[in-house]
Amino acid sequence: MKITVVGTGYVGLVSGACLADVGNDVLCLDVDPAKIRILEDGGIPIHEPGLLEIVRRNVDAGRLFFTTDAEYAARHGTVQFIAVGTPPDEDGSADLKYVLAAARNIGKHMDDYRVVVNKSTVPVGTGDRVREAIVAELAAREAGFPFSVVSNPEFLKEGAAVDDFMRPDRIIVGAGDERAIDLMRELYGPFQRNREKMLVMDVRSAELTKYAANAMLATRISFMNELANLAETLGADIELVRQGIGSDPRIGWHFLYAGCGYGGSCFPKDVKALINTGNERGHDLLILNAVEAANEAQKLRLVDKVVARFGEDLSGRHFGLWGLAFKPNTDDMRDAPSRIIVAELLRRGATVVAYDPVAMDEARRIFGDEPRLAYAERPMEVLEGADALIIVTEWKEFRSPDFIRIKQMLRHAVVFDGRNMYEPSVMARVGLEYYGIGRR
Ligand code: NAD
Repeated sequence: MKITVVGTGYVGLVSGACLADVGNDVLCLDVDPAKIRILEDGGIPIHEPGLLEIVRRNVDAGRLFFTTDAEYAARHGTVQFIAVGTPPDEDGSADLKYVLAAARNIGKHMDDYRVVVNKSTVPVGTGDRVREAIVAELAAREAGFPFSVVSNPEFLKEGAAVDDFMRPDRIIVGAGDERAIDLMRELYGPFQRNREKMLVMDVRSAELTKYAANAMLATRISFMNELANLAETLGADIELVRQGIGSDPRIGWHFLYAGCGYGGSCFPKDVKALINTGNERGHDLLILNAVEAANEAQKLRLVDKVVARFGEDLSGRHFGLWGLAFKPNTDDMRDAPSRIIVAELLRRGATVVAYDPVAMDEARRIFGDEPRLAYAERPMEVLEGADALIIVTEWKEFRSPDFIRIKQMLRHAVVFDGRNMYEPSVMARVGLEYYGIGRR
């Protein structure tokens, strides 16, 4: 099948590469010439495990191409995926300017039947706006090509995106006409050979499904964080509580980890966008407002602990920090708790040396020339001369460090662990003063 993917970010590039990998002829379009140059030079502009290999394999096989030429892209694919960003606008609503620009471009240049498939996370009703944008462009050209609009929200997780796309739990397809549904079934056939995973519904329900999923996951995290903070005041241990409730199949194990807040390119913006949708309809979404407020406070929870230990004024203090990405296995720092934590430590006068396996370039771009923030090439280097170690992202390589050396290298042998990576009893045995989230 001939496919165009508009946007070569985390979702677009993974989708394009995986669709090419099962034999399709895929053209990826981006407005950012720097990204296309990297791709044409045989690289990828993001860190995503396994992606580089798939991209190279399919480029070599002649099934995957890249372009900045919008007209060429609109004429290539019968299926046109829109996978561009939907960042939050000032009021928290999803900014649709990239989605609608992509739709207008398709309308302007399409020369045959097109299925326009929206993979970006968009508010309910966007399918109608995409349709209107295409109709307007076609009318301006006095062209009458038929087209369908489909909602096909993406559920891949950064850090495991290739695997998620190749082996999805479910494929949500919101569509109103059989021709489009048949095409989507054909397209996703190779990803659901063992069992039917495609759930077909109307466009609006599909659009809302994506927000519902992310809002539910964010709710679980904020709920556990709130209980963790309470557990600290009660002398209870949130890890034991987690095990106690996760073993109930009605609750399950996923997304029950307390920590220093959720971040990333999806949960924060999607929760805000859903709250905004509610407001537009006169529904105050009480639970989600609380989920968001709890998360904002939680991002500063580690700094609160640092302040409780070292005082309000941190000038002259120096901290080693492990983890900048919003979660392991990605270089993405959008809305990452590390951004708030580092900024607050610096604001209080401290200096910081940070280490992250892949996100340090991104951190340099975000924090710029900040003289009180430095980076280390290896995790143990951040400990040199540091008053304490602060852990923000649970990278695998931090799971079992040399605690004796940590104790020897730190000036105060204090560890603030925003991801509950270690057992307080082990830390006590080693002689490290340990502060987790909700741990006894
Ligand atoms: P991203 O910012 O990584 O990539 C978006 C890309 O689109 C950029 O490269 C940008 O240059 C390009 N672009 C913007 N306008 C364009 C246009 N008119 N034509 C061509 N290219 C254009 O974004 P992302 O993380 O891939 O997210 C894309 C969408 O998917 C968002 O709505 C997001 O909420 C959703 N989503 C993201 C994830 C995730 O884990 N990142 C998961 C599921 C859904």
